[in-house]
Amino acid sequence: MQFAHDTEPSLLMAADLANSDYDGDERIGTLAALKDYLKAHEFTGWSSAEAADLEPVHGLRADLARVWAAPNPAAVAGIVNEMLEASPQQPRLTRHGKWDWHLHFTPDDAPIPVRMRAEFAMALVDLVRSDNVDRLKVCAADDCERVLVDLSRNRSRRFCAEGNCGNRTHVAAYRERRATGSADAPRPSRTRRLP
Ligand SMILES: [Zn+2]
Ligand SMILES: [Zn+2]
Repeated sequence: MQFAHDTEPSLLMAADLANSDYDGDERIGTLAALKDYLKAHEFTGWSSAEAADLEPVHGLRADLARVWAAPNPAAVAGIVNEMLEASPQQPRLTRHGKWDWHLHFTPDDAPIPVRMRAEFAMALVDLVRSDNVDRLKVCAADDCERVLVDLSRNRSRRFCAEGNCGNRTHVAAYRERRATGSADAPRPSRTRRLP
């Protein structure tokens, strides 16, 4: 993959946020939950999140939902440009923890939602300019509409990471094949051959 090494974690973090109110189930409704989410994605300064950050984070989530629902790269680019406008950039090279040199797009003391918005917008910039917008997918399971970002080499990922969707779908398809196979195929051919 041709992305900068910090693009992929940002995209995965964005997908996780986009799914965090799936089916009316709010998973980032409290400051503690927001901190858990940031910490799980090793977001720099996660512990400095404040209760006042929740509302703008939910606003950012709504923008991400629009990104995944956008019908084509131009529509994604339009939303990304709105996101860039809402988070003035001040790029800076940094390295910390296990992460070698990479860019932070806002000062580390900027509010968490401002920094998240800038990180997600720049990761999406990477996706648009490398013609990879089709990696933003909706889960292929019949009963699931969670989003995912397909980072596989051959763009073959179809199911979200939650809900056991891939396995569930394969089991259902197997059962269906068996059911139709035993009901239609063998019996008629046998009755025809008997007389
Ligand atoms: Zn960093
Ligand atoms: Zn799913």
